[in-house]
Amino acid sequence: MLFQLRNYTHLPFALTKTNFASRMHTAAVSVKAEMTSSDHNAKSESSKSSSVSEVRVFARKRRLIKPEVITENVVKVELQDQKLSNLPDIEEFAYKKPSGNVYSRKSKLTSNAPIEIETEVKPPPNWVKVLEGIREMRSLEDAPVDSMGCEKAGSSLPPKERRFAVLVSSLLSSQTKDNVTHGAIQRLLENDLLKAETVEGADESTLKDLIYPVGFYTRKATNMKKIAKLCLLKYDGDIPDTLEALLSLPGIGPKMAHLVMNVAWNNVQGICVDTHVHRICNRLGWVSRPGSKAPTKTPEETRESLQAWLPKEEWVPINPLLVGFGQTICTPLRPSCGLCSINELCPSAYQEATPKKMSRTKLKLTKTEESDS
Ligand code: SF4
Repeated sequence: MLFQLRNYTHLPFALTKTNFASRMHTAAVSVKAEMTSSDHNAKSESSKSSSVSEVRVFARKRRLIKPEVITENVVKVELQDQKLSNLPDIEEFAYKKPSGNVYSRKSKLTSNAPIEIETEVKPPPNWVKVLEGIREMRSLEDAPVDSMGCEKAGSSLPPKERRFAVLVSSLLSSQTKDNVTHGAIQRLLENDLLKAETVEGADESTLKDLIYPVGFYTRKATNMKKIAKLCLLKYDGDIPDTLEALLSLPGIGPKMAHLVMNVAWNNVQGICVDTHVHRICNRLGWVSRPGSKAPTKTPEETRESLQAWLPKEEWVPINPLLVGFGQTICTPLRPSCGLCSINELCPSAYQEATPKKMSRTKLKLTKTEESDS
């Protein structure tokens, strides 16, 4: 090593006093690396001179390379700036019917970024097969949602009254089974209490008695009166026609607002995700929390995750499809995975349906035995 440095001092380079020390240090490190890696330099005394020549070449290379690297960085930065300035406007990311099997959603790079950049969200594998399988199962058996869902509320009424009936039906439907909601709507209809004018003038206790036993019937009766008053004051007895205005009504959440927009106004702005849709989408592995593979925690998270890849033409039918499937086969407790035709494609098959101690292999064997018999 000393030999190398000593020889290096005799190099015929025109170095100034100020940069000599740093260049020597750099060269010494380079030489050390060279010595370690080269057997040829370490073994032979006769190779001393050749080591010197290698050092010369090495030092020249460093002096030549440095400015090239800086130039390259500058070029990269320029290209990056050029790319950003060529990005399309946000409006160009508006929903378009996707081609092929790849759909996309908007995502912000950072919270401060002024530009939204589209990232591709691939649909889950086999989702078309799964959807077809569910459709087939649903066609074999009617579910309560088919005859008693909010969509059916006030179907015989004039448009304005029907819209109000759909809104009231959505309000009553939370935490309540379809047949119970349907019964309450029928009693309100029989008592001419499915119009903003009559609801506003009715006693709260009367409304409460008529809608019992829907979940939270006392609070819902109060909200019915408030909603009727707002509809009369602001919308001439009709209901609001925007998502924001619907969400501002007491007791109306995103699930209901999307349903009302879809059914009452035929204006699809999002998927109506209720507890069935939320649960089944997670069981199928169709949705996940942003930036992870963890299941979504709320129906709102499910809605956003599902909308990221599900084609828009499926946004309305997916609700009654999965609600009915959840009422008949993929039930909240002990889903009937043995009867489910898509159990081979479902990552949650048999996980909640059977005793915990039974292994998945044993379950598959049991299932084969069942189908054989
Ligand atoms: S296999 Fe079971 S958990 Fe999966 S969708 Fe069918 S019923 Fe639901």
